Order: sequence, then C-alpha cells, then structure tokens
Amino acid sequence: MILRTVFFLFAAAAMATAQHPDSAFPAHKVVGNVYYVGSSELSSYLITTPQGHILINSSFEETVPLIRASVEKLGFKFGDIKILLNNQAHGDHVAGSALVKQLTGAKVMVMKGDETVVSTGGGGDFQYTDRWKACPVDKVLHDGEKVSLGGSELVAHLTPGHTRGCTTWTMTATENGKKYEVVIVGGVNVNPGFQLVNNAKYPEIADDFARTFRVLKALRCDVFLGAHGAYYGMAEKYPRLGKSAENPFVDPAGYQAMAKEKEAAYLQKLASQKKGGK
Ligand SMILES: [Zn+2]
Repeated sequence: MILRTVFFLFAAAAMATAQHPDSAFPAHKVVGNVYYVGSSELSSYLITTPQGHILINSSFEETVPLIRASVEKLGFKFGDIKILLNNQAHGDHVAGSALVKQLTGAKVMVMKGDETVVSTGGGGDFQYTDRWKACPVDKVLHDGEKVSLGGSELVAHLTPGHTRGCTTWTMTATENGKKYEVVIVGGVNVNPGFQLVNNAKYPEIADDFARTFRVLKALRCDVFLGAHGAYYGMAEKYPRLGKSAENPFVDPAGYQAMAKEKEAAYLQKLASQKKGGK
C-alpha cells in the first residue's frame, strides 16, 4: 500500500515535470533597456542602466546558470546586477535569490507580505510547504514604491492573492525617442487548492484577488510582460520579433483581454466555492 502510494506520488511528480519542461530560451531585447533573460517557462527580466542592472525574478536555483548565460550573451555582466526584485514569492520565482545575491551582491527588495517567505526560504506561505535556500531581504517595499537605478524607475504595484505580496512592476521604457509603458504582471491565477472562502491562513484572499484585477485593469499598458511567458504569449510573439517594424510585445489589447479572462476565472471559482464546490 505504501509502495503503491509512493509510486503514484512519483508518477504524479514525473507527469508535472513532463507537462512543464523548463529549458533555455533565447535572450532578447524586449524594448528600450528591458531584456528577457529567463527560461522557457519562468520569466526573468534585466533592466540595464549605466550604473548597473536590475534583475526581476531569480527563478529556481537550477535556473540561475541559464539566466547568467542569457545576461552574458546579451553582452552584460552578471556581476553588474545591483538590485534583485521579484513578481511573487513562490519557489519557481525566488528559490534562486540566495544564489543570485551570493554571486552579485545585489540588494534584495521584496514587497510587504512576501518578505518572510523570501527571508526564510518558503516559510509562512499560506498554501505551500516547499522550502528552499533562505535569502536575506535588504528592503521591504510598499504599494506604489519606486525603485530607481541609473535613470530607470520601476514602480511596485501590490497585486495580492496569488501570494500576499505579489507584485506587478511598471516602468516607462524609451526606444527611438518613443516612450512605452511596460507592465510585468505578478500573478493572476487562483491555483488548484487555493481556498477563496473561509481561508483561515489568508482570510482576505478573495478581496485581495478582486483588488488585483481592479489594479491591473486600470494600468496603462503598451508592452505586456509577466512572471511566466505563458501569461503574455511569449513563445508565440518571440518569433515575430525583428520581422517587421512592429514590436510583437506591444499588445495593450492582449493585456486587457488577459486581465478580463483571469478575473472571470477568479469570479467563477469564487462562486463555485461559495456553493461548496472546489
Ligand atoms: Zn506562483
């Protein structure tokens, strides 16, 4: 019976891996000084400045060498990363943070609500119990706070629910004299097992998700990015990059459609759970 259970757990884990095989993805310039340096499944962004760089999302510890290779392929130095940010304190976005900090000495800044999960390596998450290497947090951010380096300015928008401190980043990028509003969406999914009703560990989760969709729908977006490439159709858009004068990542309609679709999915789950369903 125990062996059988172990086998099923193993099979389930193998299936999960098979469904989401992570691998290297071509590093590319998105717009202005914003570059994609993440993997096929997990997004990382490099914001370059004359005074060093900002990295968003360290992903898993195993992903860090892929990120480093991408940064170097673009002609930048990994050691020039001065600030490490994230979109959400789930292991697939922050488990590599301790290693990035160790390799670069970057200052780690985390939105209030996610700081304990990062500083303890997974402790205090309302849903998950997985653990990873703890990473010291140098600065706790608050909603609307600006992170500035070398003339670039990122704004941290609290978009909670997916995690308590889930963060959507915005910045204005300039290319060929034109300005673009860039939005890097933090997290919009009500994951399997998330309890929106009577959640003792996160009583305000439903209100937090509602707030997130209000915030996202109100943001002005030209360039649509997110914590996973799947949020914004990276794999479909990337091959079109450089093929015409149009930048495929400029997609305000796709951004609004995503916010509405994810809000509808949230509302449906909320209604179902209120009726006693999953
Ligand atoms: Zn997540």
